[in-house]
Amino acid sequence: MKVTVIGCTHAGTFAIKQILKENPDAEVTVYEKNDNISFLSCGIALYLGGEVKDPQGLFYSNPKELSDLGANVQMKHEVTNIDTENKKVSVKNLDNNEEVEQDYDKLVMTSGSLPVVPPLEGIDSKNVLLCKNWNDAQALFERAKDSKRITVIGAGYIGAELAEAYIKKGHDVTLVDSTGRILSKYFDKKITDVIEKDYTDHGVKLAKGQRVTGFEDKGDSVIVKTNESEIESDLAILCIGFKPNTSLLKGKVDMMDNGAIITDDYMRSSNKDILAAGDSVAVHYNPTHKNAYIPLATNAVRQGILVGKNINNPTTKYMGTQSSSGLKLFDRTFVATGLTLEAAKEQGINAKQVVVEDNYRPEFMPTTEPVLMSLVYEADSKVILGGALSSMYDVSQSANTLSLAIQNKNTIDDLAMVDILFQPHFDRPFNYLNILGQAAQAQEEEE
Ligand SMILES: Cc1cc2nc3c(=O)[nH]c(=O)nc-3n(C[C@H](O)[C@H](O)[C@H](O)COP(=O)(O)OP(=O)(O)OC[C@H]3O[C@@H](n4cnc5c(N)ncnc54)[C@H](O)[C@@H]3O)c2cc1C
Repeated sequence: MKVTVIGCTHAGTFAIKQILKENPDAEVTVYEKNDNISFLSCGIALYLGGEVKDPQGLFYSNPKELSDLGANVQMKHEVTNIDTENKKVSVKNLDNNEEVEQDYDKLVMTSGSLPVVPPLEGIDSKNVLLCKNWNDAQALFERAKDSKRITVIGAGYIGAELAEAYIKKGHDVTLVDSTGRILSKYFDKKITDVIEKDYTDHGVKLAKGQRVTGFEDKGDSVIVKTNESEIESDLAILCIGFKPNTSLLKGKVDMMDNGAIITDDYMRSSNKDILAAGDSVAVHYNPTHKNAYIPLATNAVRQGILVGKNINNPTTKYMGTQSSSGLKLFDRTFVATGLTLEAAKEQGINAKQVVVEDNYRPEFMPTTEPVLMSLVYEADSKVILGGALSSMYDVSQSANTLSLAIQNKNTIDDLAMVDILFQPHFDRPFNYLNILGQAAQAQEEEE
């Protein structure tokens, strides 16, 4: 079996390893247009903020590891065309511009995503940078050295992390977002109020509800123009989202409107010889039971493994995702899984929310910390759809418990009484997640 893999960051790396594990005789060729593989972009902000000293630790594999496993690894090679009729790809060697064709039995599309770059005036200024891969990380690190005023555009988790990293390093930071709240896709208002206060307390200027309309390059600096203001900056960083990098398969396999490849439960596209994984595909989003575009490494590595398991025969089903995510900003943990109330309403779901604050462990302990929690559930069935927590205490694993509850279609009644360990170091006889479920029950009884 001849397998061609396009792209080798997370989905590609995991797919190749699993394909060769399950099919040691497979002839696997991977084309990667960059000169590196497996870069963990989640480490960019940690590197810029100085927490990660050696960025080489942000790579967990390398071309030699994959070659040693039996893959033919072609770095700095870009796939320029896919002929799905004749099962061939055209490839350009980026070192010498030579083009070759290669046939395949199975094609694995792990070409990931590209940052969204709107066609705004001045956006090609050298003072406007992106934040996606290792090349971007190096450019951001270098440019920050002589950039006092940094404007981060987009307050999703990437922009939020960059703004925190740069303010900690002493820059003058403005965080711009067209919505009225920071991280509004991930958290409802009670929690984003906490986040916003942390930012302003630490000196980050928030330009909320401001849409960027263009840039004016000033040589050594750039003016970020919004519908409300002009922000003089030495450096602007655009982090307004990602789109699937799938133009090579446009019109050749089924896709969502934004170009995310639609796969079946076994990661096969509508062309059964083409499998796909990671940021290039749509995920099955369990809280809505619909396809969605949620580019996360969590999905990429799981789907990469599934490509490997299913490349010969469909054997292992994809479980879907709750899109669980976490952030640590100014020492406070913020974690979320599934739908916010706002997102549930946008989906037309009759959802309810309960918000509770409680100390994570008894007050007789030397210290304790409040945990602010939110639970979103479907009004009739009481099935849990989403949840979020924030605390100075590390509550990150509690989002994972809620993720499992959503995956398993548990209700608020299940959460209220499920067995969770008790020991005063960690919690009360009822863990704070039980308390959250009980608060939802109480809300239901009152109505
Ligand atoms: C700053 C940042 C922080 C993040 N933090 C987190 C986090 O904390 N948690 C989390 O779960 N996710 C996080 N993510 C998301 C995560 O990085 C992505 O979901 C993940 O990289 C997707 O992996 P992928 O392999 O599918 O695609 P990509 O990472 O996009 O990789 C695709 C690869 O394909 C190559 N390629 C594309 N087209 C071609 C072609 N035609 N020929 C050859 N090669 C090609 C590209 O060069 C690239 O190497 C973060 C992302 C960013 C940018």
